[in-house]
Amino acid sequence: MALARVSTPPRRCDVVVVGAGLSGLEAAAELLRAGVQDIVVLEAGPATRTDEPRPTAKNGETRPAQRNDEAGPAARNSEAAPTAQNNEPKPIARNGEAGPAAGSGGAGPDLAADWNRPGRDPALWRPWSSDRLPHYGGDYGIRRKVGGRSLYWRGIVLPIEDWALGDPVWPAAVRRDLGQGWRGGAGLYQRVLRDLGDWSGRALEAPRSPNEQALLDLLTGAAALRVRPVPVARRYWAEGSRVCWEPYGPLGRWMDAGGRIGGEATPLVVPDCTVVEIGVAAARVTGVGFRRAGTRERHWIDCGFVVLAAAAVENARLVAQVGPGGRSFPGLNDHLRQGFLVRTAAGGRPAPAGLAFLPATARQRSNVFVEARPADAAGFAVWDVWGIGEQERSDFGRVSFEATTGVPWSSRITAGLSPRDEVTVEAQRRQLRQVWTGLRPLLSLGPEPPRFGGFLAGTPTYPQAYEQVLNAEPGRPIAYCAPLGSVDHEGGLTPLGDVLHESGEVAGISGLFVVGPGTFPRSGAANPSLTTFALARRTARTIAGET
Ligand SMILES: Cc1cc2nc3c(=O)[nH]c(=O)nc-3n(C[C@H](O)[C@H](O)[C@H](O)COP(=O)(O)OP(=O)(O)OC[C@H]3O[C@@H](n4cnc5c(N)ncnc54)[C@H](O)[C@@H]3O)c2cc1C
Repeated sequence: MALARVSTPPRRCDVVVVGAGLSGLEAAAELLRAGVQDIVVLEAGPATRTDEPRPTAKNGETRPAQRNDEAGPAARNSEAAPTAQNNEPKPIARNGEAGPAAGSGGAGPDLAADWNRPGRDPALWRPWSSDRLPHYGGDYGIRRKVGGRSLYWRGIVLPIEDWALGDPVWPAAVRRDLGQGWRGGAGLYQRVLRDLGDWSGRALEAPRSPNEQALLDLLTGAAALRVRPVPVARRYWAEGSRVCWEPYGPLGRWMDAGGRIGGEATPLVVPDCTVVEIGVAAARVTGVGFRRAGTRERHWIDCGFVVLAAAAVENARLVAQVGPGGRSFPGLNDHLRQGFLVRTAAGGRPAPAGLAFLPATARQRSNVFVEARPADAAGFAVWDVWGIGEQERSDFGRVSFEATTGVPWSSRITAGLSPRDEVTVEAQRRQLRQVWTGLRPLLSLGPEPPRFGGFLAGTPTYPQAYEQVLNAEPGRPIAYCAPLGSVDHEGGLTPLGDVLHESGEVAGISGLFVVGPGTFPRSGAANPSLTTFALARRTARTIAGET
């Protein structure tokens, strides 16, 4: 079998996986491990990982990236360098997505890389419209290519907290399999973390450099903040004088650093195929209909099982087109993210650099991350402190699908905050101010704490705040809020125990399964991918048991 090398898919197979992103490739890998060989993964985007020249970062620019996620693609290649002195090499993402240190000369030199601006990424794709821009709009969307966002993520792996997983909206069997035990052995979280640790060749929670250890010591000691190292699933290696890293992803497992196909069995991945419909007869899946890139012609594959792994909104659309759930799906949620940036003078001593976090309590429902970037040549460092909070599934976030005579239907997002979300936003601001208070004497910060405006409008976004902080006097914090959807953790539309049976199968349609954050009945504060991997494996084993 070859990976992403087939231009014509077969006419039939046992299992079609829709989408070659983080959840789809993990599900395909687990199906193979379980002995299911006849799998076809259909991916809307091209197979760029091995075929495309590496994008290069542009030097000399100071504009920050459009920043997604926890610390965003912007920080991807500069954050937590294993050797975090300013003049030492920065890690780069494998394949060069984040490019080598771009050297803008500012406090965040790598932030200037074109690649790190989703709006300039040719793979950016938004198969929906939004009623409330900039939320779920602007420069944010999914990445259409083989690998999907598994090529972009930062590798932060956190389990959903007990206070969220313990909610009865999570089916008891799923909770048990994740945490306590699965198939007669350890729970899924433990197994996935063990595998990721084996893959990365390091303890996931270990501080990645002496400077990161110094940051942890400073925060727990002088600042009296109960921070912990952030567990990351990454592999580091040296390329000449540079230290490089890549986050875990099934593609990384299958390919060595030169991009060749590795030893492990790989699934048949067919790029440039957009699935537009699922075939269903007598409440059972019969196949999938897809279009090749640039054509209107419809092709068909017969199969007994389909795994929808096309990210939350697309998955919901494909279910809506055939399912009994109607044309409007409530429960769309992203994580609530806001924070502040502050520029500090290094003060003559080496600045600690790295990433740490304060775990969320049940009352706060937000993890707070503290990142110190290496100081620039002038001795100034930017500190970034941000919360990632749970957004609940509610009617305030929904996707409506407009039924047309042909497929695909169009998808329209309505985004907003529920009253409970507003409470989380306020609690997160209190947490951020607490961290500010802890940092103040250490970093000689000014007297004014960060000032936030509205969460949905009225506070700078990250790129705007970054622009401002580079020109602000040291010690003055600039607050920012991330638009909904821009954190890239969108989910909640097809929850287990509701739209889906607890196995991940769509209620009322045998053989149709869904994976990814869209299946979480409740997200907690944790970044979703550890749970995505775990549940993709669980669903794959269910299918393997039925084939
Ligand atoms: C910069 C960045 C950093 C992140 N960091 C972290 C982190 O540290 N920790 C964490 O937990 N999460 C992180 N995330 C989030 C994580 O990447 C996503 O939650 C995850 O990728 C979602 O997986 P998915 O399989 O549902 O979607 P994707 O990975 O987006 O994959 C979906 C795939 O399906 C394809 N597709 C879509 N529609 C169709 C169709 N109709 N037919 C065929 N193919 C289709 C897409 O092209 C894409 O390849 C980060 C995300 C970003 C962007």
